[in-house]
Amino acid sequence: MSGSSTVAVHADRDLHPSRAVAPPIYRTAAFWAEDAQQFARAAVDRRGRDFYTRFGNPNHAQVAAVVAELEHTEAAMVTASGMAALTTAVLALVSAGDHVIGQRSTYGGTASVLLNLLPRLGVSTTQVDQTDPEAFEQALTPRTRLILLESPSNPLLQITDLRAVADLARAHDVLTMADNTFATPMNQRPADFGIDLVWHSATKYLNGHSDVSAGVLAGPARILDRIWDVALLTGAVLGPFDAWLLLRGLRTLPLRMPRHNVNGQALAEALHEHPAVARVHYPGLATHPQHALAAGQMSGFGGVLGIELASGFEAADAFLGRLRHARRSASLGGVETLAVHPASMWRGMLSEEHIAASGVPLGLVRLAAGIEDTADLVADALAALPCNAFVEELTR
Ligand SMILES: *Cc1c(COP(=O)(O)O)cnc(C)c1O
Repeated sequence: MSGSSTVAVHADRDLHPSRAVAPPIYRTAAFWAEDAQQFARAAVDRRGRDFYTRFGNPNHAQVAAVVAELEHTEAAMVTASGMAALTTAVLALVSAGDHVIGQRSTYGGTASVLLNLLPRLGVSTTQVDQTDPEAFEQALTPRTRLILLESPSNPLLQITDLRAVADLARAHDVLTMADNTFATPMNQRPADFGIDLVWHSATKYLNGHSDVSAGVLAGPARILDRIWDVALLTGAVLGPFDAWLLLRGLRTLPLRMPRHNVNGQALAEALHEHPAVARVHYPGLATHPQHALAAGQMSGFGGVLGIELASGFEAADAFLGRLRHARRSASLGGVETLAVHPASMWRGMLSEEHIAASGVPLGLVRLAAGIEDTADLVADALAALPCNAFVEELTR
């Protein structure tokens, strides 16, 4: 088996109908057939690439080939966004009367699927404390069909014991699906621990350049076939050009991730003992309560950290405003450093209860380190902390 960098560059090579070194963009909505037989075959070729672009396209197939090999799964498929990957999979895998378990600390969109969308469709849900593997067991019911995991979680960087939950789910014939957006297959491969399905907001690290919205699902072909059948109906298809950009981004994922890891670790270490900081949430810190678990299932800890400012909401917002390299934005995973203050972003989006249930402190800033020089990012973050900014003001 080849290494990740080789996979990222070559895994799609057999899916190029031309001899072009750089893959062409199949900017077409449909493909034609020589005869009725070929046409009929192409129409039922699940995750195929030469019938109709909503059914599949060579640019989709190339991305899927690379992601499947990186994630150590049999197959993969692409969708128009990360949320399209989640909702399409969930619609395919559960029905009214079923039960789904999710995490308390999880991406806001995933939380809304658990809190709002699924209950409206007659699917009951339970959100559990993912730091406690026994909480998953206690939440199981005879109607549980699916467990949605996310590790590290957004934005608290809590860790889920993937092997423990996968073993539990297998024993009860329940499917597991893990959001691997924060870790990427460079840092963690959930399938290696027995997780059935892996999904990504490919908008983030997989593409890595903040210029595409995309999602991917990776897992066994027989499960992806069921999801593909529903994807045809939801129609959340990725445009061929966006798939082409995503493939281009994937080529350098194995080069980019180590730098994100270095920058995330350096920022966490520089900030976590600072008096203006109450706590840094980063699984690579020895002081993270789940550091040992993280080190056992991850080979790097990523570029995202949660910084809890000691003086709360106003201090967090002011810190963001003083950063020079990091810009205020809801995204992450690109080459540029971005920062967000969830409590102020959520003010107009979520109910008070939803914010309280998320467990996200009002003073928390999520910093997503890009690939800039480590020293520049650390200096920028330190200078933006409340007391340092005050001293700088006095000595100017
Ligand atoms: C951004 C994000 C998503 C949603 O993905 P989109 O591509 O924006 O639809 C899901 N999970 C995590 C962890 C994310 O950061």
